[in-house]
Amino acid sequence: MLKIDGLTAHYGAAQALFGVSLDVATGETVALVGANGAGKSTLLKALMGLVKPSGGTILLDGKPVTGRSPARMVRLGLALSPEGREVFGDLSVQENLKLGGIPLRLSRKDEDTRIEEVFARFPKLSERSQQLAGTLSGGEQQMLAMGRALMAKPRLLLLDEPSLGLAPLITDEIFAIIQQLARAGTTILLIEQNAARALSVSDHAYLLANGRIVEHGQSSALLNDPALRAAFLGSASHDSPAASRLGAAGLTNIRLEKPAMQEQDFMPAFQTEDELQAHQLKGLQWTLRHVWEGSSFYRQHLEGAGITPESITSLDDLSKLPFTTADDLRDDYPFPLRSVPFEQIVRIHASSGTTGKRKVLSYTQKDLDDWTDFFARCYQMAGVTPLDRVQIAVGYGVWTAGAGFQLGCEKVGAMAVPVGPGNIDMQIQFLLDFQSTVFCSTASMALLMAEEIHRRGLADKIAVDKIIYGSERSSVSMRKKISELFGGAELFDITGLTELYGPGTGIECSDHDCIHYWGDYYLLEIIDPETLQPLPDGEWGEMVVTTLCKEGSPLIRYRTRDITRILPGRCSCGSILPRHSRIRGRSDDTIKFRGVNIYPSSIDTILSQVPGLGSEYQIHLTRDESSGRDHMRLVVERAEDVAAARGAELIHEAGHQIKKQLLVSAELELVDYGSLPRSERKSQRVFDTRLEDEIVES
Ligand code: ZN
Repeated sequence: MLKIDGLTAHYGAAQALFGVSLDVATGETVALVGANGAGKSTLLKALMGLVKPSGGTILLDGKPVTGRSPARMVRLGLALSPEGREVFGDLSVQENLKLGGIPLRLSRKDEDTRIEEVFARFPKLSERSQQLAGTLSGGEQQMLAMGRALMAKPRLLLLDEPSLGLAPLITDEIFAIIQQLARAGTTILLIEQNAARALSVSDHAYLLANGRIVEHGQSSALLNDPALRAAFLGSASHDSPAASRLGAAGLTNIRLEKPAMQEQDFMPAFQTEDELQAHQLKGLQWTLRHVWEGSSFYRQHLEGAGITPESITSLDDLSKLPFTTADDLRDDYPFPLRSVPFEQIVRIHASSGTTGKRKVLSYTQKDLDDWTDFFARCYQMAGVTPLDRVQIAVGYGVWTAGAGFQLGCEKVGAMAVPVGPGNIDMQIQFLLDFQSTVFCSTASMALLMAEEIHRRGLADKIAVDKIIYGSERSSVSMRKKISELFGGAELFDITGLTELYGPGTGIECSDHDCIHYWGDYYLLEIIDPETLQPLPDGEWGEMVVTTLCKEGSPLIRYRTRDITRILPGRCSCGSILPRHSRIRGRSDDTIKFRGVNIYPSSIDTILSQVPGLGSEYQIHLTRDESSGRDHMRLVVERAEDVAAARGAELIHEAGHQIKKQLLVSAELELVDYGSLPRSERKSQRVFDTRLEDEIVES
C-alpha cells in the first residue's frame, strides 16, 4: 500500500533523513522504532505533507504522492494521531472528534455515524463526550487523538508515539486498542520509542537511528534476536555489528520488559539423534531398575516375561518388555503402578472415565517439576512469552488438565488467567477486560467460544492470537472455523494423557503439520493393535509409551489406544524433537460397519473437504431388525451463510466422496448451521444403537 523509497529531508542545512526506504502492505502493522531525534517524526511529517522531502519518492497504491498537502493526504486515506496527542483542550471530546472529519467534508449524518463508531471503539470517550478535552487524563487524550484520526476512516493509520508519557497500565490499554484495530483490518504505521511494545504488536519493524534505517525484518525475529536484545539492554557487544550499530545510534536507552524471563529456554540440550538415544537408553535402564525395586506389580509383570533390569542393553530391547494396559491400572486400584513409598508422593490425579474404576496416578515432587518444565516447553514451542496473558479454560481438579496448563504458564513467565471450563459469559468478559492473548481449552469449547464471539461481533475487540487446545480430535474444517471466528488466531494442538503426567507431552509446532513429542521424557512406539507387533515409522497404529524418568507411577509400554504414526526425519521448523501426526482417533472407537473399519476422523476429513459443509456432524449407526443390515446416517450442518437450496448438490457430493474414499454408502441429512448441539467438553458425534445386537451375536 505504502512504499517509501530513498527519502531524504532537511531542516535548513541540517539533514534529518538519509535515503529511508520502507514498505507497508495492506492489513499489516508496521513499527518504526527509534530513540528521540532518530528522525521518526520527520519521516511521518514528510509522509503527511507537513515537511517537504528533499529527495526520494512516496508511493501510495503505486501512485506518486510525494509532497502532497496534508488535506490531500487525508483524502487519499492517511490519518495521523500525532505525538503529544495535540487535542484541543478548550473543545469538548465530541468537538475534537469532528475536527478529524473536516478534510473529508462529511455530511451531518455520516459525521454522527462515525462519532458513534469511535465511541463504540472507545467507551471511555463516549462517557465523556461533552467534557472538555483539557480535563481528560493522558490515556484518554491519547484515545481521543486516535479516535480523531479514525474519524477519517483511514486506510493507513499513522500513530506517533502513542505510549509517550503514559503509565504502564494505560500503555497496556492503548496497545490493546492498537491490536484490536489491526485485527479489524486497519493498516497501521506505528512510530514508537518503546521497542518491546512496538515489536510485540507489529508484523514488521524498521529500526531508525540518526536518520537511517539500521535494521528491518519480522518483528518476532527482531524481538528474539540476541544481538538486538543485547543492544536494547545496553550491554552491546563490540563483536556484534548490529549491536554496536544500535549502541552508537543511541538505541540502548530502549528497554525490553521482563528481559531475564524472555531468555529462558525449555528445549532439550542435546544436539544430535545419537545423544537423544543415549539419554533414552539411560532413562529406560533407570526405569527398569526403579520399578523392579519399587513396585511389586511391575516386578511380577517383568518376571512373568522373563525380564530383569539387566536384560535391557539397547533401545531395541524395548520390544521384549510386556505391555501395560488400562485394565492393569484398574485392577490395581486405588494406587496402581506406584513405585515409590507414600511419603514421597505429593499429589495424585485420576482419569475422568465413567466406566469401571478410575485410573489413579501418583506424582512425586520431581514428577511435577518435570511436568512443569516440559509444559513450559509446549508454550515456548507455541511462541508464548512473558508478555502473553493465558486464559486457561480447561478443568481444574483431580483430573490433570488445568494444573499442568497453569504450572507451565507461570514457569514461562506469562500471566495465567485460571478460569476453568464453561461459563461462556465470564470467559468472554475476561477476554475483553484482560485482553488475554492465548486461550486454552478443548476443541469443542474453542468452537463454542468462537461461535459466541462471532455472534456478538467481538472478533476485533479481543486480543487472542493463539489457541492451545487438546484432549479430543478436531477436523480440519473445525480448526479453520475456530481460527476464522477468533479473528485469525493460530491453533496449536496439544497432546497428553493422565497416565503420562497429563496434558503437555507434545504440541504442534509453528509449521502446523505435526506434533513434536518430548522424546527425552518418554519413548513412543507404534504397534498394530491387532497383532501387537511394532510398526515401522510412517505407518498408522496404536501409540505405546514408556517413561524415562517418572518416579511415582512409571509406565512401561503402556497402550494408550490413541491412533497416530511416527513421522520420520527432521521437521521443517528446525526442531530436533521427534514428531508424530495429529491423533486420528482411538483404537477402541473404530466403527465397524458392514465389514469395514472406519475411524470417525476419516469422516471428519472427508466432510471438511466438501466446501459448503459446516464443521459439526453426527454419525448415527442403526441395524434394520428384519434384514439385519447396518445403516449409516450422517447428519451434517451446512456452513454458515450457505443457502438451503444448495442442499441436494452438497448431499450428492458428500455421499459420493464417502462412497469413493470409505467404500461404504451413507444416507446424508443436511441441517441448518448451528442446529447440532455444541458442548464445552467433548461433543458426542457417534451414536451407535447396534451395540446390543453385537453383544448378542458374539
Ligand atoms: Zn516442527
